[in-house]
Amino acid sequence: KPFPVLVTGGAGYIGSHAVLALLDAGWDVVVLDNLTTGFRWAVPETATFVEGDVSDMELVGRVLGEHGIGAILHFAGSIIVPESVTDPLKYYRNNTAASRALIEAAIVAGVPHFIFSSTAATYGIPDEVPIREDMPNRPINPYGQSKLMTEHMLRDVAAALPMNFCALRYFNVAGADPAGRSGQSTAGATHLIKIAVEAVTGKRPHVGVFGTDYATPDGTGVRDYIHVSDLAEAHVAALEWLIENPQESRIMNCGYGRGYSVLEVLDTVDRVTNNPIVRKLETRRAGDPDLLVADNSLILKTLPWRPQRDDLGLIVQHALAWERKLAERAES
Ligand code: UDP
Repeated sequence: KPFPVLVTGGAGYIGSHAVLALLDAGWDVVVLDNLTTGFRWAVPETATFVEGDVSDMELVGRVLGEHGIGAILHFAGSIIVPESVTDPLKYYRNNTAASRALIEAAIVAGVPHFIFSSTAATYGIPDEVPIREDMPNRPINPYGQSKLMTEHMLRDVAAALPMNFCALRYFNVAGADPAGRSGQSTAGATHLIKIAVEAVTGKRPHVGVFGTDYATPDGTGVRDYIHVSDLAEAHVAALEWLIENPQESRIMNCGYGRGYSVLEVLDTVDRVTNNPIVRKLETRRAGDPDLLVADNSLILKTLPWRPQRDDLGLIVQHALAWERKLAERAES
C-alpha cells in the first residue's frame, strides 16, 4: 500500500468495522478517537491508536506528518437525530466545525484524499424512491444539515485545492463483523435492529412499532438496511478509487436498493430465533419518513464494490451474535 491512512472515529461502530476492512485489505491504519462514544477495545492491536479530538488541529497536524498519512477516512461525529434537534450547536460543533478543522489540517499537511461518512438524512423527505444522489437535499433536522454542510465544504475544497473526496451517504446500517471482532456497542440504542436484538437477549421487554399508518404496504416504515461490513468494504473500494482518479470526487448512496418494513424486520428476527419477540404498536416518532430506499446504481457503476451480505436474515444473525457477546460480557 502507498501510505498509511487515518481513521477518525475508528473506535466507534462503523469506524471500527472500516478499520477491520482496511487491515484485512493490507492497509496500515492510524485511529484517532476521543472515546466519548467509542471503545478502546474496538481498535485492533494491529492499528495505531491516538486518543484525541478531530478538532485539535495541532494534534491532527502532528499525527498526519509523523505517520505520513495519505488519506483520511472521517467517521467521528454525533449521530442522534432527536438530540440534534434539542442541541443543534453540538451537531454543528462535532460534525460541521470539527470537520472543517480536520479538512484544513489535511490541506495544510498535503493529504490528497478524504472519505466522509455522510447520511441519507441529507435528503429529508424524498419526493420519490428509490433516492438518487442528484435529487434535492432538504434535511429536516440539524443532524442531516450538519453533514450536508460538510459535504459542501469538501466539494468547494476539492474544486480549489489538491484534494479529492468521496462522501458516502449511508442508509440504515446494521449487523456486526461476521467474525465477531466488533459490533454495535453504544448504550441507549435507538435503531430498530439493535433494539430488536436487545429484546431477544432480554435487555428490553418488547419492541415498539412506531406508527402503523404510513403510506407503505403494511403501514410501517420502510428502510434500506445495509450490513456494516459491506459498508466498511465500500470505504476501502472508495479509497482505491480516489487514488486511481485524483481529479475526481463523488457523493454516493450506500444501500442495497431494497426496503424492508418494521414488521418485516421483526418477522425476520422471529424467524432467526424461532421465537417471537413482543411487539407493541405505538404512535409515530416525530420526523420519520414513510419510505427511504437508496438508488445504488452510482456506487455500483463507480466502484468494483459489490454487496456480499445483502440478506436481512444474515444482518440480524450477526447483530444478535454480537448482542449475545455483549450480554455475556456484562454478566462476567
Ligand atoms: N422503529 C420502530 N421502533 C424502534 C425503532 C425504530 O418502529 O424501536 C422504526 C422507525 O420508525 C423507522 C424504522 O424503524 O421506520 C427505522 O428506524 P431507525 O431508528 O432504525 O433508523 P432511521 O431510519 O430512523 O435512521
